[in-house]
Amino acid sequence: MPELPEVETVRRTLLPLVVGKTIERVNVLWEKIVQHPEVETFCERLKGQTIYDIQRRGKFLIFQLDNVALVSHLRMEGRYIYEKEDTPFDRHTHVFFTFTDRTELRYRDVRKFGTMHLFDKGKELHVPPLSNIGLEPLDEQFTVSWLSDQLQRTERTIKATLLDQTIVAGLGNIYVDEVLFRSSISPERVATTLTVQEIEALHKAIIQTIQEAIEKGGSTVRTYVNTQGKTGTFQTQLYVYGRANMPCRRCGTPIIKTTVANRGTHYCQHCQT
Ligand SMILES: [Zn+2]
Repeated sequence: MPELPEVETVRRTLLPLVVGKTIERVNVLWEKIVQHPEVETFCERLKGQTIYDIQRRGKFLIFQLDNVALVSHLRMEGRYIYEKEDTPFDRHTHVFFTFTDRTELRYRDVRKFGTMHLFDKGKELHVPPLSNIGLEPLDEQFTVSWLSDQLQRTERTIKATLLDQTIVAGLGNIYVDEVLFRSSISPERVATTLTVQEIEALHKAIIQTIQEAIEKGGSTVRTYVNTQGKTGTFQTQLYVYGRANMPCRRCGTPIIKTTVANRGTHYCQHCQT
């Protein structure tokens, strides 16, 4: 699943392609992707609207148009493709935004788990799915003391806590495993047991990992590619995710893969305590 750095990369590659484009019509071939409102209304309300910005909250993209905001979650394998209107498409392409200049933004999703919600402009942050999203790790409000407060409020493991999108937005399985390695914390630790030094290290690791991953265009693990068909390169720098049985880059101990918070979890038992 694309996480914050991958969704941010999609946002950055889409921006110069579609900002300023006016939608002539919308076609939805797989209706379940459109969660709100009804498909007919969704298509009707987007007609004639011009895209003037694309924002991101956690793992969600927000297309800002004249009167409406389109909230899009790529889930497992959703992907935007920008093409000329007459370019052939395959059976995994489900939503078509055709612009007045005969180009098209297409949404392709092999697993069909992605979602779209359309709201009146300004309302999108106050209703689900965005109303409960936590702080952005690159927001200045994301401080050590704020993180420390959040960790005191839960009985869960640190892994489960960091995966919770209502606390810190945008971290998923890959980046949670990475930030816990970088801060030398076992994913199985209960969040309330972290020391001040550990919380400081974790806070720093979250910011640095996310920044570095964005600079590298995200991680291509399995199928993620950006809108221009390019893969990210951060996967070559991962310390633990996807490296089960391979030697720890720091100490040489084989990385173990186990289950924490119901998710496949990679860590070094020697470096992370
Ligand atoms: Zn190690």
